[in-house]
Amino acid sequence: MLIDTHCHIDITESFGIDKKEILENCEKNEISALIQIAVDKNSSLWNQNFVEEYNRNSNYKTRIFFTCGIHPESVQNRDQLKEIEEVILKCYENPYFVGIGETGLDFFQTPETKELQAEFFYKHLQLAKRLELPVIIHCRDDKMYNENKLEAIKLVYSIGKELNYPKAIMHCYTYSSQEAKWFIELGWKISFSGILTFKNATIIQDAAKNIPIENILIETDSPFLTPVPYRNKTNQPAFVKYVYDYLQQLLNIPNDILKEKLIQNTLEVFDRIKLKS
Ligand SMILES: [Zn+2]
Repeated sequence: MLIDTHCHIDITESFGIDKKEILENCEKNEISALIQIAVDKNSSLWNQNFVEEYNRNSNYKTRIFFTCGIHPESVQNRDQLKEIEEVILKCYENPYFVGIGETGLDFFQTPETKELQAEFFYKHLQLAKRLELPVIIHCRDDKMYNENKLEAIKLVYSIGKELNYPKAIMHCYTYSSQEAKWFIELGWKISFSGILTFKNATIIQDAAKNIPIENILIETDSPFLTPVPYRNKTNQPAFVKYVYDYLQQLLNIPNDILKEKLIQNTLEVFDRIKLKS
């Protein structure tokens, strides 16, 4: 039993793996649930339609939930904020709608919109707090961890601290154990992707070892960041098992305990998720 807490099925399909294959592989690998994450208004609407249709018609055991939000790289103008808030409020009663995101700061890919990103992130977090929904946070300062480039991560922390809201996930964590302490102090979860399995990811592996087990989640971020041993293939949600296997060996915690803990952590922060018994 594993949950992929962060995937993009729509983008994975556009990379050439169809839904049927994605879902059959989840079924084969006993993936209990997926969280389908939005990156803009269109993908938020796509998520809602896809997940409703899936849950109406599917016989698969894997459950799928979704989020709505605007990725920092999709930030363009303030009209988007009003639009996404409307979508979020409309989805609020939907039983498969489980969180807001992804939002955050990407000062590596899109430094030209820094200020607007910070405003969007603040508003997403504020709305999450008002609606008591978890919020999924993306943060990048550089291609890899660089202790001299920490502007975005520091700003995520200071906004997080100001709004003081514990139901948040640092998705695809790529910083060190030092910064992780800030987010643990805020009560946030820290989610590891396939990057954890990369040979040169020693700083991230060290962070995983030093974060309390209660704060850890796992994800794929499919179709990106395919874990070892499939680095040259397109990522898919079932590959969360390779992230899991790596983490299990790294932490050396028995399988039954670690799997249960990860599910428990996921359900604690994504408190709208109900799994089929
Ligand atoms: Zn993502």
